[in-house]
Amino acid sequence: MDFSLPPELEEKRKVVRAFALREFADEKKRYYDEHEKFPFEIRKKAMEEGILNYGNYWDLLITIEELFRVDPGLGFSIFAPFFGNENILLLGNDEQKKKYLEPVLRGERIMGFAVTEPVAGSDVAGIASKLDKQPDGSYILNGSKMFITNGTIADQLVVVARSGPVPSEQKRHHNMSMVIVETKWPGVSTNKLYGKMGMRASDTAEVIFDNVKVPKENLLGEEGKGFYYAMNFFNISRIYVAAMAIGIAQGALDIIVEKAKKDKAFSSMEGTQFTIAEIATRIEAARLITYKAASFLFQFNPDPVLTSMAKYYAAETGTYATEKALLATGMDGALTSLERMFRDAKINEIWEGSSEIEELTIYRMLMKKLESD
Ligand SMILES: Cc1cc2nc3c(=O)[nH]c(=O)nc-3n(C[C@H](O)[C@H](O)[C@H](O)COP(=O)(O)OP(=O)(O)OC[C@H]3O[C@@H](n4cnc5c(N)ncnc54)[C@H](O)[C@@H]3O)c2cc1C
Repeated sequence: MDFSLPPELEEKRKVVRAFALREFADEKKRYYDEHEKFPFEIRKKAMEEGILNYGNYWDLLITIEELFRVDPGLGFSIFAPFFGNENILLLGNDEQKKKYLEPVLRGERIMGFAVTEPVAGSDVAGIASKLDKQPDGSYILNGSKMFITNGTIADQLVVVARSGPVPSEQKRHHNMSMVIVETKWPGVSTNKLYGKMGMRASDTAEVIFDNVKVPKENLLGEEGKGFYYAMNFFNISRIYVAAMAIGIAQGALDIIVEKAKKDKAFSSMEGTQFTIAEIATRIEAARLITYKAASFLFQFNPDPVLTSMAKYYAAETGTYATEKALLATGMDGALTSLERMFRDAKINEIWEGSSEIEELTIYRMLMKKLESD
């Protein structure tokens, strides 16, 4: 068993860190957070410099960590334009990949993944948006989606909606389908949401579908399997959310360590030493679970229990680290990036499955496994 990363990944870590330290200047971090604007020009630079490598999953994981370590809001905005692309990669046919995946990977189009609705957040089976099948095989989409990342800037969204009736209370997750919707199509409208707690440099919106005609060619995978496809996607995305949270925790540790290096009175306090030791230990634990879960996923053999453990524990570690670092550094911390990182960290406990949902998944799957052993 070898716990060290290959040299090329360690090298990539340095390249991404140098990019983030250069491009995420303090005034930019503050500007995009305060104005809740998407940083198009920083994303463009990241694409030009080949910062995101979607062809190598480990490379992507390390890159996310290093971007979020310097600034979660700006880091997310570089990564988010690809959000949901795995659905097209895994389910799309050649034409769909050529038309909708390749331009996203080249950085020419922005995409999003629309699952959440005003009445269906954690409860994905509660989705009410409807895809009504027409005699020619196309669909008419009606409904609304909430908290959609890139909602107002995306060119296309992968949308999960109900394509048939709810068979029974136990089978609420049946009869959902996944389709690709272009946001320029008639009937698609968006409302940008302002004032969210964290990740403010990212775009979040309500998306409304009013009699949107979706050609049959835009169905992803098989009709009726949308719920299972979405769960499969979350098994992938939760690993990346865990990496985001580890990056944030590492960034908080960097700030407190930097202060300890400069301020002898601060570093000589036992409280400071305990805080640094505790945060560093939790980061190590979160990274180990995440890398273990990632190693199963990247070999196409995901372990949903480990994945949920990674997302749950890393997200809590991000919040823990930023909160403890804020407490330890006092006014200094409140006036630095820590204040923003604390707000950003909390979001990781909500999206892609809240901490409670991860705990329920861990419990249920663990019990199932133990009962069958
Ligand atoms: C910044 C941001 C960006 C987002 N981007 C996207 C996006 O691009 N696409 C998308 O589809 N969604 C997106 N979301 C939505 C996100 O995935 C949901 O917020 C999340 O799934 C939780 O749903 P909810 O907010 O409706 O909360 P709810 O589901 O209403 O949950 C509220 C609380 O109740 C708890 N809870 C719910 N059910 C249970 C249960 N059975 N047992 C115990 N506790 C429970 C939850 O843990 C939580 O604490 C985004 C959210 C945010 C904040």
